[in-house]
Amino acid sequence: MNKKEYIESAENNLFHVYNRFPVIFDYGKGVHLYDELDEAYLDFASGIGVMAFGYGNEDYEQALTTQLKRITHTSNLYYHIPMIEAAEKLVKASGMDKVFFTNSGAEAIEGALKTAKKYAYNKKGAGDYEIIAMENSFHGRTVGSLSVTGTEHYREPFYPLMSGVKFATFNDFGSILANLTDNTCAIIMETVQGEGGLYPADKEFLSKVRQLCDEEDILLILDEVQCGMGRTGSMYAYQQYDIKPDILTTAKALGNGVPIGAFCVTDNVAANSLVPGDHGTTYGGNPLCTAAVSQVFDMFEDYHLLDHIQKISPYFEQVLDNLVAKYDFITGRRGMGLMQGLILTIPVKEVVTKALLEEHLVVLSAGTDVLRLLPPLVITEQDVDEFKEKIEKVFDTFILK
Ligand SMILES: *Cc1c(COP(=O)(O)O)cnc(C)c1O
Repeated sequence: MNKKEYIESAENNLFHVYNRFPVIFDYGKGVHLYDELDEAYLDFASGIGVMAFGYGNEDYEQALTTQLKRITHTSNLYYHIPMIEAAEKLVKASGMDKVFFTNSGAEAIEGALKTAKKYAYNKKGAGDYEIIAMENSFHGRTVGSLSVTGTEHYREPFYPLMSGVKFATFNDFGSILANLTDNTCAIIMETVQGEGGLYPADKEFLSKVRQLCDEEDILLILDEVQCGMGRTGSMYAYQQYDIKPDILTTAKALGNGVPIGAFCVTDNVAANSLVPGDHGTTYGGNPLCTAAVSQVFDMFEDYHLLDHIQKISPYFEQVLDNLVAKYDFITGRRGMGLMQGLILTIPVKEVVTKALLEEHLVVLSAGTDVLRLLPPLVITEQDVDEFKEKIEKVFDTFILK
């Protein structure tokens, strides 16, 4: 089949739930993707913040191939070594005490919400427990995770969703207090809002929320599905704040391309919430995906990846700041580490499309006006320079208009 026929077949058979770009990616090498005609594209999206080590990493492929040949599934009725090793490494990296592996970010949120509800049920008995979530947040597309997602147009067609969710303004502690009731059992937020437009939590805000949670025995759930796994320069973004969540969710880059997520809890939460029979998953934490997680953590250490991210981020930020200075239609930059956004007054969808189709540069949007950049964590200065060259060519076409 040629490209046109492939796309026709896709549209004939796939439920049209995505508006896909007319590109067929076939394979990748390093930070470049290749289409079916072997044409290269520079990837500054990493899937959506998934491919931390880029493509075709031999250490990663070796670990997965070895596991593939041993065993890929056993069920959660038994122990297996990849899960044991992955759990030990995730506990250490996250600073949390116990982990539960899921298949996705949304399922990690589901588990976090159930854990918070069970915690309140155990402590206070049956009740209509409420959750405070943030406006402009994104937590996933399942019914539970959608219930705490702060974008009304994502939620509206699916009402009634989970009851008892109140939305506060992110980084506005007064708004949290205004939504607090005797029935509040948890406060959920992204440490750095991703889809909503690259907004990091303010230090003071997060520390006040933490204090409130301590005083009221409310659980603080930090969703680091996107901003976790080294993206911001620390293993988890909360580690750059002087606080710790009660529940932490992680996914996206956790498996570097295989579907896996997790929710992590403190000992206190583990001892007072879910027990055998309360929760489960068929695939979650299977040997293949947990072997990937285990290998990902080993590679973070072997490659000194956090050091690398801390070193390359200022270079990347400088290039972005120069773009802000150069083009009138870029009004600012927001983000942390290798999770960056440029705020545009020109249509971001047009920029993303032009970058992809004309310059072979893969970038993302966030919100309605942010060009979102989530490059592989292994990018070099040379890759950043290539990005600069390509994105300037795209931006230049908007000046001529
Ligand atoms: C992507 C994302 C999710 C949902 O993860 P899926 O794997 O798509 O279900 C949840 N929270 C945040 C912050 C995300 O960026």
